[in-house]
Amino acid sequence: MNVNYTIIECKNNHRFRMGLTDDGFRDCPECGDYLKRPYISTKENVQGLITIGQAWREKRKAESNNKPKQSISVAVEADTNKLQLKLRAIAKHTAALADELDAIDNELEGTD
Ligand SMILES: [Zn+2]
Repeated sequence: MNVNYTIIECKNNHRFRMGLTDDGFRDCPECGDYLKRPYISTKENVQGLITIGQAWREKRKAESNNKPKQSISVAVEADTNKLQLKLRAIAKHTAALADELDAIDNELEGTD
């Protein structure tokens, strides 16, 4: 029994299988060159060829792993009582700060 495989390759001979949902890829994930028209192959050894969709997913994954991740880290004490007090202090002073900033705005508006 012959099994047909659809093969797609770029002009630099990077070859991929076409998966069932792999329509619409225009560029080679290896080199970025245009992909040639897909062709049907029965004889070719397609073992080890990944699909074009998988190749693109792996490339994108590798790229996102290389990007520096943005993060904010906050040191939190394990003592929850202390943490609560600190959070309350932050909330209190934030409210006081907001009041003071409002007051400055109102004063300046009054002098216009
Ligand atoms: Zn290529």
